[in-house]
Amino acid sequence: MIRIEGLTKSYGATQALRGVSFEVPRGQVVGFLGPNGAGKSTTMKILAGFVTPTSGTARINGIDVTVDPVASRRLIGYLPENNPLYEEMMVRDYLDFIAEVRGIPKARRAERIRNAVERCGLRAVLGKDIHQLSKGYRQRVGLAQAIVHDPDLLILDEPTTGLDPNQIVEIRSLIKELGKEKTVILSTHILSEVQSTCSRVLIISDGRLVADDAPERLGEGE
Ligand code: ADP
Ligand code: ADP
Repeated sequence: MIRIEGLTKSYGATQALRGVSFEVPRGQVVGFLGPNGAGKSTTMKILAGFVTPTSGTARINGIDVTVDPVASRRLIGYLPENNPLYEEMMVRDYLDFIAEVRGIPKARRAERIRNAVERCGLRAVLGKDIHQLSKGYRQRVGLAQAIVHDPDLLILDEPTTGLDPNQIVEIRSLIKELGKEKTVILSTHILSEVQSTCSRVLIISDGRLVADDAPERLGEGE
């Protein structure tokens, strides 16, 4: 599903990625774990087609995200860190708008939105304005907008940062549910997040992958 080879990215003098390579087969839920500044967001943004790598390639189902980001984004649901939402919009109208922007044919929009609303537990807040929502509900809206076009791959950048403990539990279990049907790559700086949610963990430090393992084996031998 994902094939990344020799990815580097420099922002001026800052080398954010120093040669990252990995593959993710269809169906895995992978944690991308590392401290702040390690290069997690940069990798997620490259995969989502919003940042161009300095060298190397990233492919989603064989599509090079740099060469054809429009095609690769159809396969991707991307939830950026601090995902901006339209504060004055009603949840229902916002999802409608996103579905339209994503190019979902009009005849299928209502059904796609209903599906995203059900899976993300948003029915009770459809008539609320986004600025009225708690952080947990805002993140549910973020997940709903990421899955509305029924992508095969979910790219979630620090999906529980800033949430309170109850909201964290809820969002993690929602991600686990989505992971039963979709390939997921999730970045985080929190070990317990990958242990509770992921079947595999890639550890990134200073722009390089330093481990690729099962989450339950982390910490063994220390
Ligand atoms: P993480 O998501 O792991 O915190 P990032 O990918 O955001 O890491 O950042 C990796 C490095 O690249 C950091 O040193 C960060 O300061 C730098 N960086 C990220 N984005 C930019 C940018 N737009 N301009 C300049 N430097 C950036
Ligand atoms: P740009 O004009 O910056 O290239 P787009 O018009 O493609 O961006 O996308 C607008 C916004 O929609 C982006 O900020 C991004 O967060 C979001 N977006 C685009 N494609 C996807 C996707 N497949 N999944 C989730 N969000 C997406």
